Amino acid sequence: MTIEITLLGTGSPLPDPERAGPSTLVRAGGHTFLFDAGRGVGLRLAAAAAPAGALSAVLLTHLHSDHITDLNDLVTGRWITGFPVARALPVIGPVGTRGVVDAILAMLAPDISYRLAHHDDLTAGPEVEVSEVEASEAAGGVVWEDEVADVRILAEPTDHRPVEPTLGYRIEHGGRAVVIGGDGVPCDGLDRLCAGADAYVQTVLRDDLVSAVPLQRFLDTIDYHSTVRQAGETAARAGVGTLVLTHQVPAPAPGTEDEWIALAAEAFDGTIVCGRDLVVVEV
Ligand SMILES: [Zn+2]
Ligand SMILES: [Zn+2]
Repeated sequence: MTIEITLLGTGSPLPDPERAGPSTLVRAGGHTFLFDAGRGVGLRLAAAAAPAGALSAVLLTHLHSDHITDLNDLVTGRWITGFPVARALPVIGPVGTRGVVDAILAMLAPDISYRLAHHDDLTAGPEVEVSEVEASEAAGGVVWEDEVADVRILAEPTDHRPVEPTLGYRIEHGGRAVVIGGDGVPCDGLDRLCAGADAYVQTVLRDDLVSAVPLQRFLDTIDYHSTVRQAGETAARAGVGTLVLTHQVPAPAPGTEDEWIALAAEAFDGTIVCGRDLVVVEV
């Protein structure tokens, strides 16, 4: 009765040969969930032996491009590898998700028409079941559940302003809980999600390094991401077991992971993992 987290992509908007874009896989109770679908997510899903066709749901924290840029690859992958007919892909996300998915399907229209014309056994295009989570129901609300498998996912609004709306998620199974914080600064919704969680996955930024870069567009990123220390503070306040750092900005130079862990450890005395692609954490 454990929950397994695989960091598929720990990168940020800047392309990095060692890090795919933001995406995290969570396996619990026989289900497989994908949180965000950043650059290269299809490659990383293959590495984790989790094809798009096997996903129970895709859950989006927000609609920043780095978190959704390869969602189209999952839509096509699930459709074209589904036999005899692909199951619809459930996509759960903040308000605005439906518009993004509709635009992806419109972008894929030529491809869909080619494949329908070429493959006699394909009789319909890809199906995507979108569930938009309203802010009111997001407050502690269950957004996905399988009672038999004892798996549920709850959502809370997070604070990544001016990006709105944004969501964090808590996956519960067998008395364990894992939180996917997404981008954003500490807030009440995140604290509620994290309360007593066994693991908390947070996108983080090193303000000491970013503030040394004299580029306003880079400096702008500081005020809407958790610093490493803030992630540690949230983890400590909530009594989390393991803090997992992901989507690190800037990407940690090889050999500097201990610096990142030390910064979080100033506030948090639990286990700290400085994420790399395809690292697995089980709780
Ligand atoms: Zn973002
Ligand atoms: Zn991001």
